Amino acid sequence: GLVGSEMCIRDRKEGKKMGHVLKINPVFKEMIWGGHKLRDVYGYDIPSDNTGECWAISAHKNGDCTISDGEFAGKTLSSLWDEHRELFANIEGDQFPLLVKIIDACNDLSVQVHPNDEYAKAHENSLGKTECWYVLNIDEGTKMVMGHHAKTKEELVKAIENDDYDNLLNKFDIKEGDFFYIPSGTIHAICSGSLIYEAQQSSDITYRVYDYHRKDAQGNERQLHVQQSIDVATVPYVPLAADSMVETAIENGTRTKLVSSEFFTVNKYEMTGKNTIVNDKPFQLVTVIKGNGVINGNSVKMGDNFVVCADQDAVEYDGTMTVMICTL
Ligand code: ZN
Repeated sequence: GLVGSEMCIRDRKEGKKMGHVLKINPVFKEMIWGGHKLRDVYGYDIPSDNTGECWAISAHKNGDCTISDGEFAGKTLSSLWDEHRELFANIEGDQFPLLVKIIDACNDLSVQVHPNDEYAKAHENSLGKTECWYVLNIDEGTKMVMGHHAKTKEELVKAIENDDYDNLLNKFDIKEGDFFYIPSGTIHAICSGSLIYEAQQSSDITYRVYDYHRKDAQGNERQLHVQQSIDVATVPYVPLAADSMVETAIENGTRTKLVSSEFFTVNKYEMTGKNTIVNDKPFQLVTVIKGNGVINGNSVKMGDNFVVCADQDAVEYDGTMTVMICTL
């Protein structure tokens, strides 16, 4: 057979460099508002019927995913970031910058807002949190809260003091396939009945404005962060221009660019057959949200998550599946 170096030369002649595609073990979070769609829809082995979040690809200390197989099996994504930065094109940064979740809102999430990098650094020693959502699946009549109607901080404070959330919040119906970009400072809430793909900066800083006066099993309400929320909330709320999603034909399917921002880019690939997707970024975070098939010769199914490392120039996909790819 060929020795290693000959294999390398052969692969290089074919224009392919064999690198790392890391399959990820998700981390699950039980939440007061969680449900069991992560098992029902994605087949995940969830800890209880109140599972709210699948941290699908994360190196955050509050939910550090492990690699499921191959030479790095059992290692955390954060340890690869610390010890094998070459896998991520040697880019700089104290921490892995992005986090991908799948969220099952069986009940309403708190009304909340996230800080920007500057505020988060100063007050929490953390990254800020800009996020985006793609609606995977909804129950009939599901809504979303995005932004508010206060024209000044004073109006915002008054509405919060009066618990006047019906008039304050901008609430509307959503449907499967909707996409939202949520810059830090945007007051928002995911409402009951939503199953959502979320890509975000790697941060766990949430300021809760309002939690519907819900009590846990011990009769306690969750902590609110009203002052921080008022500090960081953008007033007035300016809805983002309905930036039409750009759809492009690929070999066997379509690519839809959902967002390209200073924090992350997310593309949706709907594929029916073979496709080669080039990796020209430090890494790609791949989530199979629908269907099944083969990725670089390995069987995959919906709910599977991968990190395509910098040393992997391109990935071969074959099958009928939809994947989300999040990159810097
Ligand atoms: Zn949020």
